[in-house]
Amino acid sequence: MTEDESTARVWDCIVVGAGASGMSAGLTLARARRTILLVDAGQQSNLAAPVIGGLLGHDGRRPAEFYAAGRAELAAYPSTTLLTGEVARGARGEDGIFAVTLSDGCRERARSMVLAPGMEYRYPRLSGMDERWGDSVFHCPFCHGWEISGRPVGVLADGAVGLYGALNLRAWSDRVTLLTNGSSRLTGEQRDQLSAGGVGLDERPIAALDGPGTELRAAVFAAGGELAIGALLVKTYLYQRSSLARDLGATFIEPDEMLAVEAIKADAMGRTGVPGLYAAGDAATPVPPSLASAVASGYLAGASAVIGLTAGPVVGLAAGYNDSPQTATGS
Ligand SMILES: Cc1cc2nc3c(=O)[nH]c(=O)nc-3n(C[C@H](O)[C@H](O)[C@H](O)COP(=O)(O)OP(=O)(O)OC[C@H]3O[C@@H](n4cnc5c(N)ncnc54)[C@H](O)[C@@H]3O)c2cc1C
Repeated sequence: MTEDESTARVWDCIVVGAGASGMSAGLTLARARRTILLVDAGQQSNLAAPVIGGLLGHDGRRPAEFYAAGRAELAAYPSTTLLTGEVARGARGEDGIFAVTLSDGCRERARSMVLAPGMEYRYPRLSGMDERWGDSVFHCPFCHGWEISGRPVGVLADGAVGLYGALNLRAWSDRVTLLTNGSSRLTGEQRDQLSAGGVGLDERPIAALDGPGTELRAAVFAAGGELAIGALLVKTYLYQRSSLARDLGATFIEPDEMLAVEAIKADAMGRTGVPGLYAAGDAATPVPPSLASAVASGYLAGASAVIGLTAGPVVGLAAGYNDSPQTATGS
């Protein structure tokens, strides 16, 4: 493809990211006979995990297998192109056409865009964490709790978030210890609640996690000594992976201590308020993220894009149904 050909073509939709949400949006658009370019950098969040937990029809499946199956389904639709790459920049022109530049310099244009880039999951830095992330170190009990159930489990967090995480984890283990990694900011009342819930508390600073391979055997304390744990739940914060959404005019939900930081503001149909710009998956999810919600929100964002491309704003239709900047109110 020459550069002229590439810049002359206008896709119906460019989907940024081909994880669960992007592929779900792509499938919806493909089935509506739209021309779609999916660009994917191949860094789906759960690739570090040995298996998927809690996604109906795929429970226990390896993540890479799940993504390969999604790509195979999309490949059956001739109007769909899936490109390995990264969208580096994007802008919406005055004519309403989106123009993006890939990191290899390639440029593409589209009448609409679905942002499905996922989020960067950030967890506390501790020696021994990275190699266990997604396995014996995890962020979501609904994703990984079954696999670690019955083991002695630590929860690395503090304050109300730590209390909540530790009490909740009792659904999966009778031996839960809240590890605050130094003096905690728990109130007396919170300490009482912890102890009434049968959860231990250890405030010693942690030096490292130890165990063979991706397994966890113990938290090792800086001053010596260790606590035997077979898994560790860590409080994780989610950040946008790039400034792309901001550059395209999207706005963000106020950060919340419990949930995703800076999720893109979009309504229940994935509409961002920027005409033709939709968002789905972790990047636009102000509730605990999951593959199930990524698939669902991708489907809805894809459907919105199809409606926006074909019906457009309809005279006489109630405000909430039209794809206008006034309609996206966020969560
Ligand atoms: C370790 C771990 C394990 C998990 N396990 C489970 C589980 O068992 N069950 C469950 O329900 N949930 C699980 N989750 C959560 C789940 O993985 C996410 O909710 C889900 O992957 C979100 O899907 P997504 O499509 O929004 O984002 P992602 O899956 O992250 O996919 C986004 C894609 O977009 C690409 N991308 C980003 N920016 C660009 C760009 N500029 N250009 C091109 N491509 C781009 C990325 O490389 C990536 O391939 C887990 C999360 C983690 C971190």
